[in-house]
Amino acid sequence: MNICEIDITNFRNYSHANFRPASFNIFYGNNAQGKSNFIEAIYYLGNGISYRTNQSRELINWDSDYFRLEAHCTNDQGTITIKSLLNPNEKNIYIDGVKINRLSELFKNISVCIFEPDDLALVKGNPSKRRSFLDREIVTIQPLYYDLIKRFNNVNHQRNSLLKFARRDKNLISQLEDWTDLYTKFAYKIVVKRIDFLKKIKPYLEYYLKKITQNKENLDIIYEIGQIGEKIVDYNAYCEKIKSFKSEEIEKGNSLFGPHRDDFNVYINGYNVKKYGSQGQQRTVALCLKLAYLEIAKQELGEYPILLLDDVMSELDMDRRIVLVDTIHDKIQTFLTTTDLDMIKVLVKKSTILQIHDGKIINTS
Ligand code: ATP
Ligand code: MG
Repeated sequence: MNICEIDITNFRNYSHANFRPASFNIFYGNNAQGKSNFIEAIYYLGNGISYRTNQSRELINWDSDYFRLEAHCTNDQGTITIKSLLNPNEKNIYIDGVKINRLSELFKNISVCIFEPDDLALVKGNPSKRRSFLDREIVTIQPLYYDLIKRFNNVNHQRNSLLKFARRDKNLISQLEDWTDLYTKFAYKIVVKRIDFLKKIKPYLEYYLKKITQNKENLDIIYEIGQIGEKIVDYNAYCEKIKSFKSEEIEKGNSLFGPHRDDFNVYINGYNVKKYGSQGQQRTVALCLKLAYLEIAKQELGEYPILLLDDVMSELDMDRRIVLVDTIHDKIQTFLTTTDLDMIKVLVKKSTILQIHDGKIINTS
């Protein structure tokens, strides 16, 4: 999957920019010039949202009242044009001129994933980080998973409202049971998809970890259901578990058991990396999870996603930089930002370099 041409208008500090990306693209320049803004534009084209804000209006250039992003892409099926438009009257995405109704339609046509410094805290950070890693990555390879998550969130929201009132109004209990059935159905589907994803990612994670550490460490990656750390369960057991929380949930007025409370942990030689790993080890596992994900995407989609690396090189030591570049070079269309061009030039032999200054591409080589 490749972007052949990208055109951005009134996005962040860009009035207008256009270029034809190569396989490896480097945005370089001083701080606050617009390097990450360009990465954000590409991310938005592929995901219909930003990874830095959920207020799309913030993305519009301060001197304008709209933005427009357009990319011509090639994938296995041929060429497509994706256009994103935000103005006071519309916020829409068009694929080959046709407005889409669901973001999953966008994900079926393009996948763009990002690796940024924050992702290195994946192992050490709180469970919500790991859940969004899982969900974000599963969506890229199975676009309909996005609809499943949305439906679960809606049901969870409705059910929580009922739970809040059910303590005082016992007539709501039967209604609550209907919602619980739906809740359980969606919740279980999410859990199964996540467990399946982790199963697929494990051999690749093992491969990259060995490549970096040169150790023959024994690796495990385990999905933990709820805060009780339960392992894989069948559907009936899962239903029973949810039912067992009924009175406590009514008491608290909130759902207490579901995929929005789950987690996963990585174990090396039997110890939990989140609890006992050094910071270096935790960051290595996070990097390897990302690299492993790219292989899963290739396996499932038949082609690699487009990769955005925002400021991530400066956060890695030389060994890890080498493994990262070796893995992606000549294989994955990459867009990378840096303030230190010499550091990247040592690693990457063939690339297009774009010098960014004050919201403009001032030089391309
Ligand atoms: P660093 O090397 O520090 O990461 P960068 O080149 O990645 O810098 P960006 O985050 O891309 O910097 O750009 C930041 C600049 O964009 C800031 O100067 C900010 O004021 C400006 N900016 C952010 N949003 C808008 C907007 N909606 N309109 C105009 N300018 C904006
Ligand atoms: Mg930046």
